[in-house]
Amino acid sequence: MKYADVIVDISLEALDRSFQYIIPERLEGQVTVGSLVIVPFGKGNRQVKGYVTGISEETDYSPDKLKEISGLQEGSMMVESQMIRLADWMHKVYGCTRAQALKTVLNVKRRIRGGTKKVYELALSREEAIKEMQRLALQPRFASRAAILAVMLDEKDHGWISESDIKKKVPSAENALKTLLKHGWIRVKEASDYRTPYADLTDDRKILLNDAQRHAVDSILNDERSVHLLFGVTGSGKTEVYMELMDACVKSGKQAILLIPEISLTYQNIARFRRRFGSRVSVMNSRMSEGERYDQYIRAKNGDIDIIIGPRSALFAPFSNLGMIIIDEEHDTAYKSDVTPKYHAVDVAIYRMSMSKGKVVLGSATPSVVTYDRAVRGIYGLHRLPKRAAGNSEMARTKIVDLREELKQKNYSVFSRALQEEIEKRLDNKEQTLLFLNRRGYAGFISCRSCGYVIECPHCDVSMTLHKSEGNILKCHYCGQKAPMPDVCPECGSRYIGTFGMGTEKVVEMLKKRFPSARIMRADRDTLSRKNSHLEVFGAFAEGKADILVGTQMIVKGHDFPNVTLVGILAADMSMFSGDYLSGERTFQLLTQAAGRAGRGSKPGLAVIQTYQPEHYAVTCAAAQDYESFYKREIVYRKMMKYPPKGSLMAVIMEHEDKIKVEEAAKILSEMMKSEDVQVLPPADGFRAKEKDRYRKIIYIKGTNVNGLIACREKAQQVMREDTFFDKINVQFDINPMNLY
Ligand code: ADP
Ligand code: ZN
Ligand code: ZN
Repeated sequence: MKYADVIVDISLEALDRSFQYIIPERLEGQVTVGSLVIVPFGKGNRQVKGYVTGISEETDYSPDKLKEISGLQEGSMMVESQMIRLADWMHKVYGCTRAQALKTVLNVKRRIRGGTKKVYELALSREEAIKEMQRLALQPRFASRAAILAVMLDEKDHGWISESDIKKKVPSAENALKTLLKHGWIRVKEASDYRTPYADLTDDRKILLNDAQRHAVDSILNDERSVHLLFGVTGSGKTEVYMELMDACVKSGKQAILLIPEISLTYQNIARFRRRFGSRVSVMNSRMSEGERYDQYIRAKNGDIDIIIGPRSALFAPFSNLGMIIIDEEHDTAYKSDVTPKYHAVDVAIYRMSMSKGKVVLGSATPSVVTYDRAVRGIYGLHRLPKRAAGNSEMARTKIVDLREELKQKNYSVFSRALQEEIEKRLDNKEQTLLFLNRRGYAGFISCRSCGYVIECPHCDVSMTLHKSEGNILKCHYCGQKAPMPDVCPECGSRYIGTFGMGTEKVVEMLKKRFPSARIMRADRDTLSRKNSHLEVFGAFAEGKADILVGTQMIVKGHDFPNVTLVGILAADMSMFSGDYLSGERTFQLLTQAAGRAGRGSKPGLAVIQTYQPEHYAVTCAAAQDYESFYKREIVYRKMMKYPPKGSLMAVIMEHEDKIKVEEAAKILSEMMKSEDVQVLPPADGFRAKEKDRYRKIIYIKGTNVNGLIACREKAQQVMREDTFFDKINVQFDINPMNLY
């Protein structure tokens, strides 16, 4: 006998609770995961529709208590069916529960109690609304009315907001809303004519594709392989190729999804898509409320839009006739989910398109070694755009500076002599400089010069970082713990307690000393935590309001500052010491992308790379902008170590407050996961042995392919289910991890 797990509606609550039904003999073989079935439901055995989310040979109930599936809905390859199959695949590959997978892929709605959904928009012009808000804000009894106006003004991308979202943001909105309506300051909006941002932009400049772009478009469309790599240097016109492909896809009656890193969703980029596709395109971002996101999905499902552009989760847009998924900057680690299920967008996209027989296009100037390897082996199509598209813009020159040599010459500053000279020139010529350092805060760590004591977070096994501009406090970058900076060593009482290493704050301080007349801005997680502030900082810098922008990786990606002619990478080595198998790849990508920021306009650019390892191939290949050579060196290492793509890797992460327990768990699991197919490395402390008061152990497992690792994980999960010892121990599995655990 076979049994089917059935969900009878797609709401958040329902996904945790599927019902088991018997598959009658006449339907055996026909009912599969994703099938739309008719089942008797509830006391009255009402006939309702449901989706099959899983099939098993066993049941936890006594079979005579189970009801039978009544029938199968024909032609049921609806989009939900596909998404449920996708969830089933994710459940098997990533090892999460079915409910977790379903929640990730289905666009579920929380039940909203009572009433239909109301949406409001401003009836006043922006200026009028701002004036009203300021007037109301002066009187405490009108505070909630002012707050509502403020919220609506803040939603400037949309011009509208739902009642439930207003109430979430302004708890006292209930009565105030009525007054605002009565005064005619806001009005109710029909959900069907939601305005999309910048929908009124029209196509005012048509770009003709160059030969390389044209060739890429044609060969992607005509090649029967389903996955393609568009390997184009920064500024080579990949986005134009994406738009042409999406256009072709839509013209053939299908829909398209474009994933781009959130940071690239700049006004200019959104405007480009709007001009081309008008209101048939919808842009998602992570600031959107659940309600807004749900509305977008409904529009996709109803066929009101053809294209969705957004970050990772846009992958699950419920288009019923999806023809293409394009993933820009496919190497970006943001495409790997850091919560369960720990899926990679590229793998999920490939599976989704294998179901709907469409294409996946991966674009990058610095593809991941895994993707490039498949492309050179012919598994994926490979299409190159070797030159920048805009005629007058050339690739930046690069210069490697050996920091050991600087020390020998008694230059103890963070800025090498060459870099100082170049910054000076930029200031004279009124050109801009980007300075990149992979660490925020003031200094790397605090230590006593007398006894060597290092101040660590009491909850995590990491050193605290000094943040001078936030009132001289120490912060833990993992748990957020704060502490005052001590005057004397807590261990030996010595006054010689000092800061070591360098963060972005200190770079700004040193810059101010060295270049007193320069206007300097900083962009990192500390300065950009407010909602829209990254647009503000980058906007101001683009307008020339500063000469130098200092920041962490967020300044490296995607931005197009035409007046930047110098990029300085202060410490290229920092990402090389991160210790995981991806560190070489990450260093190469970072340096290449950073160099790509210099000279995007008509003026020639220069990238200065400061390093203690000037001979490391990740540095020399990036300086030469030579991906091929980098790949050739890197793939030898991956082969030797059996790392992806020449093998597969799984991280098993265990956490518990009790150190002994987590050690015991690691011992048990590593013993029982051993097999001929895989190599189980001894349990290690990982990157930090303790985080937020929980002790951690990591086991890495290498296998020739993912299937061996999945089998290994299933064995472990079996043991965990049967042994109550594991009840309270948090165990996570990550296949081909991109995080450092
Ligand atoms: P990428 O996505 O590869 O970084 P973009 O598509 O953003 O490149 O293009 C970089 C710049 O070149 C943009 O300003 C774009 O308008 C311009 N561009 C792209 N294709 C062409 C073309 N065929 N002719 C002229 N300019 C182009
Ligand atoms: Zn001391
Ligand atoms: Zn901490």
